[in-house]
Amino acid sequence: MINVAILGATGSVGSSTLDVIARQSERFCAFALTAHSNVQRLYEQCVQFSPKIAVMVNQSSADELQQRLKDNPKTTSIQVLSGCDALDQVASDEQVDYVMAAIVGAAGLSSSLAAAKSGKRILLANKESLVMSGALFMQAVKDNGATLLPIDSEHNAIFQSMPEQFNTIKAKTLNDFGIEKILLTASGGPFLNKALADLDNMTPDQACNHPTWEMGRKISVDSATMMNKGLEVIEASWLFSASADDIQVVIHPQSIIHSMVSYNDGSVLAQLGNPDMRTPIAHAMAWPERMDSGVAQLNIFEIAQLSFQKPDFERFICLQLAYDALRMGGTAPAILNAANEIAVEAFLQEEIAFTQIPDIVKHTMSQLKAVSADSLALILSADTEARQIAKTLCIHRDKI
Ligand code: NAD
Ligand code: MG
Repeated sequence: MINVAILGATGSVGSSTLDVIARQSERFCAFALTAHSNVQRLYEQCVQFSPKIAVMVNQSSADELQQRLKDNPKTTSIQVLSGCDALDQVASDEQVDYVMAAIVGAAGLSSSLAAAKSGKRILLANKESLVMSGALFMQAVKDNGATLLPIDSEHNAIFQSMPEQFNTIKAKTLNDFGIEKILLTASGGPFLNKALADLDNMTPDQACNHPTWEMGRKISVDSATMMNKGLEVIEASWLFSASADDIQVVIHPQSIIHSMVSYNDGSVLAQLGNPDMRTPIAHAMAWPERMDSGVAQLNIFEIAQLSFQKPDFERFICLQLAYDALRMGGTAPAILNAANEIAVEAFLQEEIAFTQIPDIVKHTMSQLKAVSADSLALILSADTEARQIAKTLCIHRDKI
């Protein structure tokens, strides 16, 4: 039996992971489930999956969960923990084999790192871990013999389209494997064809109404601005030792090709499938084998047509800002990410307009100088400072 800790169990990726585990219950056990504060959802998951440990970051939510689990004779033996430290604790628990890192945002960094330091198989959905601390994270994976498998559908597709040896011979460059470029696909989100003049008035619900994927609200807004693709460019650079110039973003509105790898001999390898996160989740859980994920087979006759276009950097300013941050290096990606988290939250709370998100990120990046990202302390301090600047910019947004 393989014990899986699911960090962010109540979210979109966490729930899809549990769906896969329910189909593969003879091989995988949901050993630990964690959530921020959604007691009802975590309680239901505890009843269905009987984990050994349930974590709620929020103390009063943990107390409430504990009481509800006690009242149900089927769940009295589940241990309830609370606080951020408990996330690191389950991520490094001796009995845990695989860690699904599916917390949203910078809040997921510490527990992902804890999993890397404990040599786990890390199923990485939390792209922010690599965006903020790519060098430290990759080093921790290497030093501790952890196995890092990407869950982000594009990176999972790239991983599947890479030569097998790429993952074992990390020191080499893309060119050593005859790779010309990575083609990172993007749906373009809900506003791909909206008139630019209308973007100012877009509401959170419109921004979260993604044409092809069902996801949490933060990443849905990031898809609408294409900051999500920007973060993914940075994520890909760490996972596949690629430079900004090695990664071409391709808009592909159908979300059927999840990314491609272009080789020097003219070959392009791609991974296709229905847009459903259970495919990359099942791939990474079963790797190097394959198993059923519950996803319907792709019907290429029904799809009939696939289309591609270049991204427009004037429409998707956030994508350009992410490329800039990657080229700057050091703490620049952490600053970009922190400012974006603040701006997206302000937009979701209807405090700023959709088009102010890139403004806030851009101005935070120009106000806070990036330094080398040699230690976690430097990265976290850049993150804190960027959040403060971005919050002030949100308040004084009319002066930007
Ligand atoms: P979500 O908002 O649906 O779920 C987030 C989860 O994180 C919840 O379980 C929540 O309780 C937990 N959480 C939130 N804040 C927390 C905090 N401060 N401390 C501890 N836990 C906290 O998010 P999601 O869409 O499932 O995305 C999760 C991660 O996966 C993100 O990094 C996202 O970029 C990435 N990802 C998601 C998808 C997708 O299809 N949803 C695809 C690719 C990558
Ligand atoms: Mg993705």
